[in-house]
Amino acid sequence: MQIAIFGTGYVGLVLAATMSDVGQDVTCVDVDVEKIAGLKRGEVPIYEPGLEALVRDNQAAGRLTFTTDPAVGVASASIIFIAVGTPPEEDGSADLRHVLSVGEMVGTLMQEPKIIINKSTVPVGTADRVKATVTARLAERGLTGLEFDVVSNPEFLKEGAAVADCMKPDRIILGVETAGGRSEQLLRELYGPFNRNHDKILVMDVRSAELTKYAANCMLAAKISFMNEMAHLADKIGADIEKVRLGIGSDPRIGYHFIYPGVGYGGSCFPKDVRALISTAREHGIDPMVMEAVNNRNNHQKTLLFDKIRARFGSDLRGRTFALWGLSFKPNTDDIREAPSRTLMEALWAAGAHVRAYDPKAMKACQEAYGDRPDLFLAQSQEQALEGADALVLVTEWKSFRSPDMAEIAAKLKQPVIFDGRNIFDPAMAAGYGLEIVGIGRSSRM
Ligand code: NAD
Repeated sequence: MQIAIFGTGYVGLVLAATMSDVGQDVTCVDVDVEKIAGLKRGEVPIYEPGLEALVRDNQAAGRLTFTTDPAVGVASASIIFIAVGTPPEEDGSADLRHVLSVGEMVGTLMQEPKIIINKSTVPVGTADRVKATVTARLAERGLTGLEFDVVSNPEFLKEGAAVADCMKPDRIILGVETAGGRSEQLLRELYGPFNRNHDKILVMDVRSAELTKYAANCMLAAKISFMNEMAHLADKIGADIEKVRLGIGSDPRIGYHFIYPGVGYGGSCFPKDVRALISTAREHGIDPMVMEAVNNRNNHQKTLLFDKIRARFGSDLRGRTFALWGLSFKPNTDDIREAPSRTLMEALWAAGAHVRAYDPKAMKACQEAYGDRPDLFLAQSQEQALEGADALVLVTEWKSFRSPDMAEIAAKLKQPVIFDGRNIFDPAMAAGYGLEIVGIGRSSRM
């Protein structure tokens, strides 16, 4: 099949790579001229395990091409995916400008029937708005009879495992106007190679599909915020949240997934999607009590490591240096959007401290975000980050941080303390090296 994908970010590029890998002809369209020029040269702008090789192989095979020209994308394909960003507006609602501008382009350029599939995370009712936009442009061109369909097909990939998630999705949600209609049949065919083990396709109406994506992300965010609240309590009352986690996870109704306490969720999805659903609820006269609490707890959680550092070193951190391990919002990605590391670094800088940061993949993103600040040193290795530091702060649980040389850490730090924002270090083991671990919810009595 010939498909076009508008937006070559984490979602669009991974979708393009996996679709072309199973034999589809994919044209990627993006407004970012530099990104497309780089991709044409074979440069993959983001880090996702396995992505670079897929892009390279399918580009070489001629199944994956890149353009900034929407006319080329629209003409090339009968199936058009929208995978552009939906960033938050000031009030938290989703900014649909990019999504609707793709609708404008399709309505202005299409010459034959199309299926428009929305993969971006969008509020309920957006498919109707895309439909209205395309209809209006067609009417202007005197092409009211030209058929098209708008399908909601939200994406559930996880950054850091995006290729694997697209190759083996847990579920494929299709929000269609007519169940069993032509669009559903075509999409069943398109997703066939990823749907062989058992049928993972769930067909529903468009609005339910749009809400499913937000409900999923908000539920996951709620699990995290709930555990973070329990961690606070554990800290104050002399309990260890890690023991509590194991104790509750063993109940199959709760399960072990997504109940790790930490320094808060970040990234380009959870924070913005929780805020967007709050905004949708308000628009419809519903008081989003649970989601407000989830959001508030998370904002507070992102300042927790700084509070713990301040409790130890005082509010004036001038002359202090902190080694920071982990910049990305989670392991296996280079994405630092809304990452807790940023909240921490900005608080440390405001208090006069210096930061020596290291991340296995997000150094470039950090350099781009913070440039050449004199109070930021971008280390070449996790060991180099430790040199001359007062203490170590662990923010992201990358594998390479899990079993470090504790003797070396103890020797390099001026004060033998590690602030462990993900509870990956065993306090008893670290104590054997003379190191104190200040974790989350482990009765560190900050
Ligand atoms: P991203 O910011 O990485 O990429 C978006 C791309 O769209 C950019 O390259 C941008 O230049 C391009 N773009 C903007 N306007 C365009 C236009 N008119 N035509 C063509 N390209 C255009 O975004 P992302 O992380 O891939 O997310 C895309 C959408 O998918 C969002 O709605 C997001 O919420 C959702 N989503 C993201 C993830 C994730 O893990 N990143 C997972 C599921 C869903």
